[in-house]
Amino acid sequence: MGEQRDMNQIAVIDLATRETKIRPVPEKLRERFLGGRGINMAFLYSLVEPKIDPLGSENPLIFGAGALTGTGEVTAARLNISAKSPETGILGDGSMGGFFGPELRKAGFDHLVLLNKSDKPIYLLIQDGKIEFRDASHLEDLDIHQTLGTLRQELNDRDVQIVCIGPAGRKLVAFACVCGGYGGNAVGRTGMGAVMGSKNLWAVVVRGKRSIPCADTERLLRAVKKHYKQVTGTKGFHATSIYGTLIRLNNSRLLGLEGGKNFQVNVRDTDGLDIDDFLNQYEIGKKACFGCPIHCKHVWRIKTGDLAGLTGIGLEFNAAGALHFMAECEDWETIMAFYDRCNRYGLDVASASAYIAILMELYDRKIISKKDTGGIEYNWGSRDAILGFLDQTAKREHIGDLMARGLLKAAETIGHDMMKYVVHSKGLTIEARDLRAHKGQLLGEVVSSRGGDHLRGRFTMEDFHLPPKVTEAIMGRPVPPDPRSYEGKAWPTVWTERLCAVVDSVGICKFASKWMSPGLLGFEEMAESFEAVTAIPKTGQEIMSDGERIYTLEKLFNVREGISRKDDKVPDRYHEPLKYGPYQGESIDEREFQGMLNEYYDLSGLDEEGKPLAETLKRLELDKEDELRSMASV
Ligand code: SF4
Repeated sequence: MGEQRDMNQIAVIDLATRETKIRPVPEKLRERFLGGRGINMAFLYSLVEPKIDPLGSENPLIFGAGALTGTGEVTAARLNISAKSPETGILGDGSMGGFFGPELRKAGFDHLVLLNKSDKPIYLLIQDGKIEFRDASHLEDLDIHQTLGTLRQELNDRDVQIVCIGPAGRKLVAFACVCGGYGGNAVGRTGMGAVMGSKNLWAVVVRGKRSIPCADTERLLRAVKKHYKQVTGTKGFHATSIYGTLIRLNNSRLLGLEGGKNFQVNVRDTDGLDIDDFLNQYEIGKKACFGCPIHCKHVWRIKTGDLAGLTGIGLEFNAAGALHFMAECEDWETIMAFYDRCNRYGLDVASASAYIAILMELYDRKIISKKDTGGIEYNWGSRDAILGFLDQTAKREHIGDLMARGLLKAAETIGHDMMKYVVHSKGLTIEARDLRAHKGQLLGEVVSSRGGDHLRGRFTMEDFHLPPKVTEAIMGRPVPPDPRSYEGKAWPTVWTERLCAVVDSVGICKFASKWMSPGLLGFEEMAESFEAVTAIPKTGQEIMSDGERIYTLEKLFNVREGISRKDDKVPDRYHEPLKYGPYQGESIDEREFQGMLNEYYDLSGLDEEGKPLAETLKRLELDKEDELRSMASV
């Protein structure tokens, strides 16, 4: 058993007064909200007054490591960062892997609740239970890579773990991210980097030499051995190990689901980029997060040409697909240069790539012109436009300054009913694959609690056309195997939302969970390890209810911000039929979608406007706000 004293703590840090309060994670909070995303949500809901300015000092920024993070459970490396989002104006939250989460726990802290705003640039140094506020004015002009290098050198410790923002976060770009290394680890979506920038907090550095407490080490060890075998024994393990998420490039093309020209063309007149070409020409290695046998992160280098020498870590479908399909970029090297620049500026690759494609369509339609873009021609696939957009955004110039306010605000200025060209939900762009033929996946992205996004409730298993008997065995209800069917798709969405909420709260990676593939870790496995580490008894069914509680609290947060059924809306473009390919003619029928949405609300315990019912709140013990506020008090 590890050292128990002064561990599993919450640090409430007032950046204005520089006071810190430290206390252990209350047992009840752990029991009901597990850790990571779940406990973050309890704090967020309790601390955020409705309608506050996300970039105002009253918006808290909350860090939370998963309950299993750093314990040795397979892939348990995750950390969530949460706040009200400046990109969407609703719930903001994201998860990252890497090494920061485990190190934070080894330093004695599971959660950091950052309040108010420092009057000058600072970074936090957290070492074995001690928290120091340090001057960060020397980081003012540095990019992410330079910041990481400078802090490592200054602290003379190669083993410190750092999260930081770059120029985009400091300039309050609504889709700035918090980066956790030289690439590949970031809290990307919903603009947590801008919230950090608004607090004049440039970085958080952690170093811990303590042992993370575990109630029953023998039991955890048995569970980890079993889970390791389970994760590495699936076919998907090899595919993810080799290709990472880029595999979705090839299979989206095969299915005729390319989001070509910002979702105007689903089969493009090109051979398309091939993932094997990328591996053969550019990949020089792989990286993994703490405790992960999958090692999905590509390490790449451009060896010749004008970008020779450019090296990076990580290349994901969500951005590479958006640039290749949506922005018609036919060149791996431009995509790698885009990645490198986002990782230096600290920009979310998913939003940045989708915004570029949207601007290219607006330019094509003559809604914007060179006058707006500072002279850049936003032609489809243009490297100048792709990289120029990033420069202008990070510097807040021309069209980049406009988009830096977030899609919804930019659309108010651009006009021309711009949002009808945007495939999004609640101001967050939906992934680069066309979802018109996958009704379950679309539902999950439309109702997602942080806006259009695949990592909250996308029923990824819909891709596998599993027989109903198999889905029934996994999820307790049969699901029709045809992805085009609307029937029975509400339940897998609800099930996946609960799964992802638990995954993010215990701190394992979604790529090791049933979100990705049926043979991977599910509720039973997570409950088993959670109990071994915390001594809080949980069955698979009970931990699934915890997932429901966390998701319902997220819905409550959004309802308080004015979100309702009108916002659970299919993107306009998805009402048009797919023009070509195996799913030719498929579109989203509004009446069928509304039926699916009714069923989803019903199964989620929401009323017909999408608001949690009183009986749901009572069942989930969310009905007593005072109790929640006292558990998550600061
Ligand atoms: S699968 Fe990839 S993202 Fe997930 S823990 Fe492993 S290396 Fe990190």
